[in-house]
Amino acid sequence: MIKIHNISKWYGKFQVLTECTTQVSKGDVMVICGPSGSGKSTLIKTVNGLEPFQKGGISVDGVAVGDPKTNLSKLRARIGMVFQNFELFPHLSIRENLTIGQVKVLGRSADEANAKGLKYLHRVGLLEQQDKFPGQLSGGQQQRVAIARALSMDPIAMLFDEPTSALDPEMINEVLDVMVGLAQEGMTMMVVTHEMGFAKRVANRIVFMDQGKIIEDCTKDEFFGTRRSDRAHDFLAKII
Ligand code: ADP
Ligand code: MG
Repeated sequence: MIKIHNISKWYGKFQVLTECTTQVSKGDVMVICGPSGSGKSTLIKTVNGLEPFQKGGISVDGVAVGDPKTNLSKLRARIGMVFQNFELFPHLSIRENLTIGQVKVLGRSADEANAKGLKYLHRVGLLEQQDKFPGQLSGGQQQRVAIARALSMDPIAMLFDEPTSALDPEMINEVLDVMVGLAQEGMTMMVVTHEMGFAKRVANRIVFMDQGKIIEDCTKDEFFGTRRSDRAHDFLAKII
């Protein structure tokens, strides 16, 4: 469903991605890990066109991301993205956060958007918070709203960029539990995270990056087994 072929990207003279190639099939849960600054965020953002790239190609469900003829906002509407810092609209209520994209981007009626938004808000256990504003919720609750908002758009895949790394420890699991549920239901996911417990539970693929390169792209069993590279081994030793 997502094909990343030989992607290279530079910021000025600095090469941030070097010939990255990988694929995500329908229902795959890919965990991307690696040291800070290794290009994980940049790679995941190229998938929905948030970061342009200079070489290589990416296609999502057959649509070429780098093609100037591709309607990027239409593509983005089909791929849910959840960031480290939630990025909810602070001046809108939780319910409005859930409905605005559905109405403005997908052209749904207010009633339809409301029904869908509340369905997913219920799913993440926050139905009773619908009239509050983001600032009145905890970080873990805001991130669950962000996930519900993305799901309300009926995405074909979900991208997560360190969704729990800005959270206090006691809130991490409430977000991971929602993500585990999604994975178990067969959602196609690319997840940048250092939560190796999550990776062990639901990932079927692990990508390890270092200095802009994909160093390993393997199954979970291979990654947590003995076949990993020295660099991945050192990385795991530091975080587990
Ligand atoms: P990661 O998510 O793995 O921590 P990033 O993809 O955020 O890594 O960044 C990879 C590298 O690219 C880092 O060295 C970072 O400093 C650099 N970088 C990220 N964004 C920019 C930018 N807008 N301009 C220049 N360099 C950037
Ligand atoms: Mg990052």
